[in-house]
Amino acid sequence: MKKPRIAVIGAGLGGVAATALLLRSGYSVRLYEQAPSFSRIGAGIHVGPNVMKILRRIGIEDAMNRMGSHADAWCSRDGRTGELIARVPLGDFAVKEYGASYLTVHRGDFHALMIDALPPGTVQFDKCLSHIDDTSGEDGGGEVRLTFADGTVETADIAIGADGVNSRMREHLLGAEPPIYTGLVAHRAVLPAALLGDTPFDLCAKWWSEDRHMMVYYVTGKKDEIYYVTGVPAPDWPQGQSMLPSSREEMREAFDGYHPAVQKLIDATPEVTKWPLLERNPLPLWSRGRLVLLGDACHPMKPHMAQGAAMAIEDAAMLTRCLDEAGADDPATAFALYEANRAERASRVQKVSHDNTWLRTNEDPAWVFAYDVFDVPLR
Ligand code: FAD
Repeated sequence: MKKPRIAVIGAGLGGVAATALLLRSGYSVRLYEQAPSFSRIGAGIHVGPNVMKILRRIGIEDAMNRMGSHADAWCSRDGRTGELIARVPLGDFAVKEYGASYLTVHRGDFHALMIDALPPGTVQFDKCLSHIDDTSGEDGGGEVRLTFADGTVETADIAIGADGVNSRMREHLLGAEPPIYTGLVAHRAVLPAALLGDTPFDLCAKWWSEDRHMMVYYVTGKKDEIYYVTGVPAPDWPQGQSMLPSSREEMREAFDGYHPAVQKLIDATPEVTKWPLLERNPLPLWSRGRLVLLGDACHPMKPHMAQGAAMAIEDAAMLTRCLDEAGADDPATAFALYEANRAERASRVQKVSHDNTWLRTNEDPAWVFAYDVFDVPLR
């Protein structure tokens, strides 16, 4: 049977994962990205065993293991006193219990590794999707016509919206509606670890107080770069602004009274930016006709579980599995199977992220980390 042509919109971590996995399954895939190129933006990311098992299929697990920092544990600390309030084992324990490593890495390095795993030329840059026509008929015929801002038109049998929190594809399916600003910003900074002198830092720690936190971890195997990301209340954010510069002074004010180790990090920070934390309520539909959503286009969430990209990558894997299972010539059945097998988990992660309770106490994280998208029985 002829495999359908699939267009993926957006080359973030979700779109690249979908492209890599669908290519492995033998589909003809095109990946369209609005940006002219990617750069190594200053941010880190956690990559849990649930994701590493998918990266194993893509063929980059070993490279990731070499690239990332392997913490023995996730430490939760009292922001003011530094007291250890929870210690959730990772390291060898994660490999044994959950089936793969738990890493923290530089987000840009991870993304570049994912892009490099695709055949050269797969990503088409400078392709901003502006208009979608789905000509599906009752008889199962038809196709998707995608119009880009440069005036070009491409056709496909299936189009996947992996185009992030302001998804054009979501807007086409459900109407224009900006995401919800959560009233929190995230400050982000990557700095050379050498700037910290000999102050000892946990490899992966979250410093907590009542209404704010700072997550700190190394982003390279060599431990030569350290990253922090915060969650800090800020009542307003200018709509449409994706990020703004911040400063050491603003950080000192936000974390006044925090432990000296946190002050040391702030004092050593050469450059810090701040980003609005956005989310959406669960969507009433994930697909229609030949169009389907994944990742932040579908369920954007606060980053407080460090599982947003993980959910996008799990979506990509489950969508591939469902297209293989149901037959991609019947997208409606494949998409219904996909949503039935993803919506509950994604919504649960969205809710825990929203509440910001994850690993603040010594809870068992197995429901997140032990999950194997290729192995769970399909509902
Ligand atoms: P995106 O990464 O947003 O990618 C969407 C892509 O689509 C972009 O490249 C964009 O340019 C492109 N695009 C958009 N519109 C168009 C268009 N019209 N045409 C063509 N292309 C288009 N997640 C984790 O798993 N672990 C973490 O540690 C973690 N930390 C985080 C920290 C912060 C501060 C934040 C804000 C998020 C964090 N996340 C983390 C969440 C994670 O970043 C997102 O959930 C993830 O990036 C979503 O991936 P995606 O591929 O769905 O969307």
